[in-house]
Order: sequence, then structure tokens, then C-alpha cells
Amino acid sequence: MDIFNKCYKFTEADEIKAAGQYFWFREVESAQDTEVVVKGRRLIMAGSNNYLGLTNHPKVKEAAIRAVEKYGTGCAGSRFLNGNMDIHEDLERKLADFFRKEAAVVFATGYQTNLGAISALVGRNDEVILDKYDHASIIDGSRLSFGKAKKFRHNDMKDLDRVLGSVPGERGKLIIVDGIFSMEGDITPLPEVVALARKYGARVMVDDAHSIGVLGEGGRGTAEHFHMEDDVDVIMGTYSKSLAAIGGFIVASRDVVNYVRHLARSLIFSASLSPPLVAAVSAALDIIQNEPERRERLWHNTHKMLEGFKELGFDTGSSNTPIIPIIIGDQIKTLKMCGLLQEYGVFVNATVSPAVPKGRELLRTSYMATHTEEQLDRILDAFKRAGRHLGVI
Ligand code: PMP
Repeated sequence: MDIFNKCYKFTEADEIKAAGQYFWFREVESAQDTEVVVKGRRLIMAGSNNYLGLTNHPKVKEAAIRAVEKYGTGCAGSRFLNGNMDIHEDLERKLADFFRKEAAVVFATGYQTNLGAISALVGRNDEVILDKYDHASIIDGSRLSFGKAKKFRHNDMKDLDRVLGSVPGERGKLIIVDGIFSMEGDITPLPEVVALARKYGARVMVDDAHSIGVLGEGGRGTAEHFHMEDDVDVIMGTYSKSLAAIGGFIVASRDVVNYVRHLARSLIFSASLSPPLVAAVSAALDIIQNEPERRERLWHNTHKMLEGFKELGFDTGSSNTPIIPIIIGDQIKTLKMCGLLQEYGVFVNATVSPAVPKGRELLRTSYMATHTEEQLDRILDAFKRAGRHLGVI
């Protein structure tokens, strides 16, 4: 039996391509901005996580260039051994201060952050309790751990209560939720999560990949949004959204961070975040603090789009953030709609199983502080035309 047989039999992607409905791995020939160039055509970008519009900001780019000039392009090894630079340590102090926690540890990607931190923290005698809609990297980190993983129904606190009640008292417990859920754009009910954690003696970790720079008056994410910064034990974040680069971190107490630093395999056995990225994140963090008007603009755009889609008759689920899903509930229609939108000059993400459950297929749209009114109107107009054409509205 040839181990590659499954590869030869994998024809699904080619079939979707042949039907002209393949909208993954699209080649973007320009910067991630409010407009992008795909196959020589300008499209309005309504599918990027560049919430504050910083990936192409002159100060962020300048910081990255200066770091390349001083440190070169790579670190040539793990932080544990040769690849730990002063700028990594500086960024950790800056992140800890920003989030008002004792310490931080930075990783080379957000995905690796969840893999490393969760698999380190959840030991043989522990259980990790996950929202069913948690990001894949949280699920993979839990699988990699030696503990047991249990799931509760999405944002369903009765079910979380039930699951916590099923964990034997002597076991360590860690609840992990997304702050803003990456596909549905709804927010975790943090006050209830924390109350249940207290009831059962569990710790709480929030993946704030999509909330940093977005939620909270200072852009510090979900805990700040709910005025509960002292109640969340571990905040995890990525740099690939508002922080304009790639990489990730956790902030927590000194002891927890020290433990993760020495036991997270994705940190120890992988090379460190490259200098231009460290510098870009640091510059983006300054802008988040110094330019709150970007966050205001992002929320203005979010409210306009939520209202606009609802007025047109689209189902936006329970989103109340810059991630606005347009729920179609059918794979073929979702792909067709994505194609029509591209024809009408708009880039959105077709999201089908396994990224969302079957029957919950959706177009994931997301907004930036830097979108203009005119661009947003053009997005709504394209959706109106495509939605009517396909009988979605
Ligand atoms: N957590 C969440 C909630 C995410 O949405 C993502 C990526 N989309 C990650 C973690 C992984 O982050 P990265 O892409 O920076 O590796």
C-alpha cells in the first residue's frame, strides 16, 4: 500500500477549481490594504484581519527596515539558545506593561503560541475546557497536551457549568475561550465564564487574537472591554491582525510565563521571531496607544456595515464586532456568492467546513479603520447585487 494513495485520490480541490469556484490561496499582488490587486484587478478588501490598517503604515515599515539594518533578517536559532535578542526581551516588557500583567513571552507565530503554551500548561492530571468554536490552534494545542480536553456548546454557560461539573475536583482545570470568535465575530460572555471558573476553581485563558486593538478603551482586548483585567489569568494574542506582522505572545503572572518559557516546545525547538517583525510589532503597539481615533473609526465602520447588511436582509448571526459573517448555510451558494463578489470587485473569504460546521457555511467579512465610506458603500452594493442574484436576500 503506497502511503501517497490518499494524495492521488484527493480530487476535491481540483473539482472545485474546474467548476471555477476555488477562492483559496488567491495571489495578492499588493500590500494588505483596503484595496488589493489580484490578477491585475483592484478589489476592495473586506476579508483582512488588518483591523487598524497598520500593515502598510510608514512608521511600522520604517521600524522594520531599521531593525533589518541593525540586526539582519533572521535570528538563526531558538531563543533558548542563540536566537534571543535584546529586542525580544524589550518587546516582552512592553507587552506585559501594556496588558498590565507581570510578564510576557513572545513566540514566532500565534499558532505556535497556542500550541506551546497550552501543551505546556495542561499536564497529565489536568483538563482543558474549550468553547466548541475555539480556534483550531487552541484545539491543536490541547491535543498536543497530556491532559484531557472537553468542549462546551458555543457561548452556552449552562453547558460550561455542566462540563466543569463533570471534571473530578482534584484535577487542574483551564477554560480557554476566544475573546472575539474568529468566524462568527461574537464576543465571549467573560463575566459568566469567570464566575463559573471561580465556582469550580478553574483558571481562565482568553485568545485575544481578534480583540487586541479592537476591544476596550485602550485596545487591550476582551478583559478590558468587560473591566475584568485582573480576572483573566492568561491573555494570548497574535501579531498577525492589528499588530501588523506575524508572531504571538502570552501575558500572565511571572510564574506562569517562566514555566511556559522553559517548557513550551514550539518556543524551544523553533527559531525566534525575526528582528523586523519584533520592531514592527513594537511600533504598532505604540500607534495603538497613541492613535485611539483609529479604534473609533473601526467601530464607526463596523456599525455602518452591521446596519447596512441587516437592512439588506442578510443574516449576520450574533456578530457585534468588525468580523461580520454573512451566513449562507450552503457550500455551493457560498462559493458562488464569493465568485460574484469578486466579479463585482470585492474580496471576501468563503468559509466552509471544517472551518465552520456543515450547514453554517458563511462569507467572512471583516473591516478596517482605514476603509472609506465610499469603499464600504461599494461593498454593500456588491452584496446587494450578488445576494439578489442568488436569492439569498
Ligand atoms: N487564534 C485565533 C483566534 C486566530 O484567529 C488565529 C489565526 N487566524 C490564531 C490564533 C493563529 O494566529 P497566527 O495566524 O498569527 O499564527
